Amino acid sequence: MAYSRPIGGEDLVVTFYGVRGSTPCNGPEVARYGGNTSCVAVEIPGQPPVLFDLGTGLRYFGRTCPDDQPLKASCLIGHLHWDHIQGLPFFQPLLREGGEFHIYAPMQEDGRSAYDVLKSTITPPMFPVELHGIPSSLHFHDIVDADFTIGSADSPVSVMARRVPHVGLALGYRVTWGGVSVTYLSDHQQPQGGFFADSSVRELCDGTDLLIHDAQYLPHEFASKADWGHCTAEFAVWLAEETGARRLALFHHDPDHDDDCVDEILASARAMATSVDVIAASERTSVTVPAR
Ligand SMILES: [Zn+2]
Ligand SMILES: [Zn+2]
Repeated sequence: MAYSRPIGGEDLVVTFYGVRGSTPCNGPEVARYGGNTSCVAVEIPGQPPVLFDLGTGLRYFGRTCPDDQPLKASCLIGHLHWDHIQGLPFFQPLLREGGEFHIYAPMQEDGRSAYDVLKSTITPPMFPVELHGIPSSLHFHDIVDADFTIGSADSPVSVMARRVPHVGLALGYRVTWGGVSVTYLSDHQQPQGGFFADSSVRELCDGTDLLIHDAQYLPHEFASKADWGHCTAEFAVWLAEETGARRLALFHHDPDHDDDCVDEILASARAMATSVDVIAASERTSVTVPAR
């Protein structure tokens, strides 16, 4: 029987295993927030875990899973940039017979599926094992804008996937269960010339209980990287308040930002916020989202 992490209570527990954008980083200057790339686990009572992205933080999520039981999980990949997939071949639960992973990811505009892309990167000489040689079962689901359910049949988890402006095709996700929702927009291109949001982004964020959002750049960095696919914490706060999000987790920290810099970004975001509660995501910390 597949392992379904038995968390207690009635609440959703969101744990950050990788919070960094672009590339992993390491050193004492990033030790508090952490240097692994995007991976967030949403644990729902009685349900297999839901993973947002499979960056290098995934390896540390894998270390929390029992060695002697196969894992069942749903993986919601926003897009296929390195920082969102690089943990996949190092995820120990994949190496166990009986594991079952449903991987949802965007179909590429050139027609390639996520499976096509991943098998072209998880292969010699880049990696010693082929993707199809992994013992667990991988079920790929190619999506773009989609609404679907995952998890147990008697208490399904609703998932909304919508396109989000970035560099290349990227999706944001909203997961709803027990009357509460968690929204994940890891990489979001801030508009140039003012704050506004696509209708798809508004749909994902509208009244969400926890918005996990890109906050990669300081304002002066955005000025010189305005089309690199990311945004400032100021834009994330604006979006959260514009859409009535209850809590905002600043995410996808720039690998060149040390802990003091992230502290400063958080302080300025809190000073700007008037209604939303703002935190900065840090590795291996959890946020509880109480069910209603
Ligand atoms: Zn990224
Ligand atoms: Zn990206």
